[in-house]
Amino acid sequence: MTTSAVANEPLAYRQPEGSAPRESQSVKRPLVLPPGTDNDKFQRFIEEIASVTGSENVTVISDEAELYHDNYLDPGKAHDMFHIVYKTRLVSSAVVAPRNVPDVQSIMKICNMFEIPVWPFSIGRNVGYGGAAPRVPGSVGLDMGRHMNKVLEVNVEGAYALLEPGVTFSALHEYLVTNNLRDKLWVDVPDLGGGSIIGNTIERGVGYTPYGDHWMMHCGMEVVLPDGTLIRTGMGSLPSPDEDSSLPPHEQPPNKCWQLFNYGFGPYNDGIFSQSSLGIVVKMGMWLMVNPGGYQSYLITIPRDEDLHQAIETIRPLRVGMVLQNVPTLRHILLDAAVMGDRKSYTNEDRPLNDAELDAIAASLGLGRWNFYGALYGPEPVRVAMWQVIKASFSSIKGVKFFFPEEMPDNVVLQTRHLTLQGIPTMTELKWVDWLPNGAHLFFSPIAKVTGEDAVAQYEVTRRRSEEFGFDFIGTFIVGMREMHHIVCIVFDKKDPDSRQRAHRLIKILIDDAAARGWGEYRTHLALMDQIASTYNFNNNSMMRLNEAIKNALDPKGILAPGKNGIWPKNYDPSMYKIEI
Ligand code: ADP
Repeated sequence: MTTSAVANEPLAYRQPEGSAPRESQSVKRPLVLPPGTDNDKFQRFIEEIASVTGSENVTVISDEAELYHDNYLDPGKAHDMFHIVYKTRLVSSAVVAPRNVPDVQSIMKICNMFEIPVWPFSIGRNVGYGGAAPRVPGSVGLDMGRHMNKVLEVNVEGAYALLEPGVTFSALHEYLVTNNLRDKLWVDVPDLGGGSIIGNTIERGVGYTPYGDHWMMHCGMEVVLPDGTLIRTGMGSLPSPDEDSSLPPHEQPPNKCWQLFNYGFGPYNDGIFSQSSLGIVVKMGMWLMVNPGGYQSYLITIPRDEDLHQAIETIRPLRVGMVLQNVPTLRHILLDAAVMGDRKSYTNEDRPLNDAELDAIAASLGLGRWNFYGALYGPEPVRVAMWQVIKASFSSIKGVKFFFPEEMPDNVVLQTRHLTLQGIPTMTELKWVDWLPNGAHLFFSPIAKVTGEDAVAQYEVTRRRSEEFGFDFIGTFIVGMREMHHIVCIVFDKKDPDSRQRAHRLIKILIDDAAARGWGEYRTHLALMDQIASTYNFNNNSMMRLNEAIKNALDPKGILAPGKNGIWPKNYDPSMYKIEI
């Protein structure tokens, strides 16, 4: 084992009773065994899995060195690269990369047989929410993206793509460019292009073009259930007239409307496979935006901190009325400042920055305390008309300024947003994570009404609490069709246990603060899933009881992602898996 900064930190699980290595052991012993599994059983399990996938597709996590792939560009597949609990707390026992759908089905059968939990991920870059780490230590990570990474179809007429889990936003964009399709179709991208489209979409991630609500824009899924059964949702369950009885189900030509109409017939089941532990998504359709034939991004700087109220009141009618065509963002000055430099480049103070210092940073960067990034889509007359309305509305805020990217060639944020808002992926936004040394982050992501009152109240609580715990407030409001995702970026130093623990305490208190005011989070890190699930407790936790009933019916042995989003199968005692600070 390598010596490391984490050597003194406890393993999540000490190896259970009497599990000395077998004489003839060919499989390495993992750092962490699956629950209720001794080393012997684990060896047999791994041999069985390797007989399906080939041993080259099975990695037992036996060495801490595996846990030092902790860079977005080289992400670890068995742990959380932005871990807020100690590094070896949430790790997989092994990572398995299925080659195809039948491999996934066989793996599920073997996991059921051995009662070993499995945690699927597509790329594992789920930064701020847990990366590739499993909720239950010692689970087997299922690396869906390593081999299953094809763009199966891009349909220009129907403006959609059919994808496998390993297709990243960058890869689909590249595919469109390489196949000369970019003049016809755009892919919506989030801030960073390296994540999986399937992973991000089923976690209900967002981007910034008019197609920014990814889950809204998905259409049709192929899913392996916990018992290994393969299903297609929506129109996909209606066989195509071209069905070929010599082919296995996953290779059958799909119904021609699978990617065109989401709902099919009967109950609409796609939702149970989103933020879920009920299925492994092996194919998914995604609507692509038709190139609008004209594009102009812009920045509106809003000078004063207290302008937040009026800014949001200005945004709401424009967004609900679709004059704001895309998913725009209202960013706090420090988010932009952090992309442009680390904390040391602005201050030597250890305490959180105060208003005067924030004003000075805004002035030095030529930005406002809040900065609004949007775009206009369509032929020039359409854009000109939209811009007139937007400009007139925002002009009621004293001191606002309007910029196009060509007027600020050195503003790296505006230049990056210019690309992102037209579906061109970048990695630039990674830079704000370096605000602190050894920077890592947690996202606190409550949903807000698009009202000045709600925005100001959320900003007040989250900033005050951040400062109480010694952090600068860094955040952004992402404006959806009827609500805002308020994303608070809690940047901490992952090598400093004190910084990590303060971040963890901060988010826990914020979840309670928010719930007391009727605000809930749309998504969260593994370590906070139980707490957030417990806040969605209308009528004596009736939603959780429904979720548990479905979970226990579809996955009676509780092998698929136990604990995900706070849903525990009946054979698990959640108190055994509590994550303490
Ligand atoms: P990213 O695309 O950002 O790299 P991940 O691949 O890490 O994201 O996926 C994020 C989460 O989404 C995973 O932890 C898992 O819970 C879920 N997930 C991802 N891919 C799949 C899949 N193919 N099937 C089922 N769940 C998945």
